[in-house]
Amino acid sequence: MKGGIEKLKALHPEMVQWRRYLHRHPELSYQEQRTAAWVADKLEEFGIRVRRNAGGHGVIGDLDSGSPGPRVALRADMDALPIQDEKGCEYSSSIPGVMHACGHDGHMAALLGAAKWLSANREVLKGSVRFIFQPAEEISPGGALPMIEAGALEGVDTIYGVHLWTPFPAGTVYTRGGALMAAADEFVLEIIGKGGHGGLPHETVDSIMVGSHLVVNLQSIVSRNVNPVEPGVISVGMFHAGTGFNVIADRTSISGTVRTFDPELRIQLQDRIGKVLADTCSMFGAEYDLDYKLGYPPVRNHDGEADRVLRVGRELFGADRVAESPLIMAGEDFAYYLEKVSGAFIFVGAGNPDQGITAPHHHPKFDLDESALLTSAQLLASLAVDRLNGSN
Ligand code: MN
Repeated sequence: MKGGIEKLKALHPEMVQWRRYLHRHPELSYQEQRTAAWVADKLEEFGIRVRRNAGGHGVIGDLDSGSPGPRVALRADMDALPIQDEKGCEYSSSIPGVMHACGHDGHMAALLGAAKWLSANREVLKGSVRFIFQPAEEISPGGALPMIEAGALEGVDTIYGVHLWTPFPAGTVYTRGGALMAAADEFVLEIIGKGGHGGLPHETVDSIMVGSHLVVNLQSIVSRNVNPVEPGVISVGMFHAGTGFNVIADRTSISGTVRTFDPELRIQLQDRIGKVLADTCSMFGAEYDLDYKLGYPPVRNHDGEADRVLRVGRELFGADRVAESPLIMAGEDFAYYLEKVSGAFIFVGAGNPDQGITAPHHHPKFDLDESALLTSAQLLASLAVDRLNGSN
């Protein structure tokens, strides 16, 4: 098997071309129409049976080996972000204000590489491989749930997915059993005060001052209410208020994100944020509106499948390039698949400080070390072969 997977190398130039094409033509979450059609055409070219428009713009490809066996799913996401590409290189985004700044272009290219190789080598497989290209990973409620509702996991025994990750060096593979990525929740709130003249504050309720207290008070929750050995984050990302320098703003809008791994802590933080908001507003006589949106649950890998990833990874790339992952505070709707079937989510390193590829995800200069496309494709294809032909 290892000898065969070596030959996937021959597909690397093509994977780079695909990735660069996708990088030039990004589409935002829930708008991945052209991307999905392009991916579906490629799968059909490889002799894979395709279902289009699954759960929105989702694409499902099925590869049957002809011999009985389990069904393994491999998943990539397709959406880009509302960010202006500042790389200024030959394959920069051609769409103003839209950019593949999280590597989902690379996820598609790598999965297409694995699909092309698996299709050409289907005689070595027992059972079947399903290729899931999902829309809308970046924005909750996300594309995974509608695809699952549309039957993406029907008959699937085990699922694997890769996220290219620039904080890790290219060529490395990281995963872990149990919790891997955080639950990502969101709060959107408005403080309603009473506007008036900046020189006559005693006749107003200053929503900016109440909001400022609130931001500080929220930061006491993780530091003072949460067990220090439990990971948790509350970050305020938006604070909007005011129309003039001498006007007391009657309304202040604040929103932020909450990240946890533990389900009880998740509820505890939601509860505390509500109480701190209510008490801070009551202290100053302000009113409020709160919309608390539960986002993706934590990504929890199945122990046996995480072990398989580590073993297969070491066989392919050497023990020094494969390791247990740290917890990652980002969220992922891959969590929903893992709530239904066994499997593992995996980080493949895509950073390269020597080549200046160091920008973090969601940055306007984000880029990938494209050697990671081959690492991902080899890993995904090998996991499918190992799961179908080996032990469960
Ligand atoms: Mn992502």
